[in-house]
Amino acid sequence: MEMTILPLGDCICAGSVLTPGYHDTEMTPVPVSGYLVTLDDGKRLLIDTGMSRDHIGNPQLTYGGTPIQDAIVPDMDPADDIVARLAEAGLTPDDIDYVINTHLHFDHAGNNFLFTKATIFVQREQHDFADGHESFPNQYWNLPELTYELVDGRREVLPGVEVVPTPGHVPGHQSVILQLPETGTVILSGDAVHIAKSYELDNWDGHMDPVAARASATMLEQLAQERHAEYILGHEPAQVQQYPRFPHVYR
Ligand SMILES: [Zn+2]
Repeated sequence: MEMTILPLGDCICAGSVLTPGYHDTEMTPVPVSGYLVTLDDGKRLLIDTGMSRDHIGNPQLTYGGTPIQDAIVPDMDPADDIVARLAEAGLTPDDIDYVINTHLHFDHAGNNFLFTKATIFVQREQHDFADGHESFPNQYWNLPELTYELVDGRREVLPGVEVVPTPGHVPGHQSVILQLPETGTVILSGDAVHIAKSYELDNWDGHMDPVAARASATMLEQLAQERHAEYILGHEPAQVQQYPRFPHVYR
């Protein structure tokens, strides 16, 4: 099994969206990523699909005219189009056999509509909560042509690929644990932890359930220590340097 990190643009967010108390009103660009995994049987898994490619040239596509239009602004170049990123890796969306969504926010499930050939793993609790909910723009993911497999709790969904519930950011949020042959354990927090400052400030008030969010973040940090894991946070700018992205391959 191997993994590469696909850069899917930046989201320019008010600091308060990421971690309250961290220059709340200043707009901060944070990376949005997808994680492309080649399984041992040659099948392909994509973990999170990023912001819709339709934001390119139209950053206000999702939130224009809403109260948060100035707090969450996609910043995407044509190169950040997931179709272009997959093409760089020699793939098309139809080559993706499986998708895992950590959750169904617009920056994690925004291109789900492209993956009509894939089985998409989401926690049932998250799927049911997001169904019809305006905070989870349904036009990108809640479509009859997509195939969801709803997961209840912790589970190895594919060989070497485990999902673990990390509620708090939203109900039914999940993180992903990969077991790579050379790199070892890789933990993808998703938005259970946005940025490293969340730990430093111990502030989880940007999540729907701050108490659950703190518990999930603590669990992930302990797991990362126990397994000597590479621990990749949802949107930490400094990790773009720490963890090189495509074309670097983690084996
Ligand atoms: Zn996010």
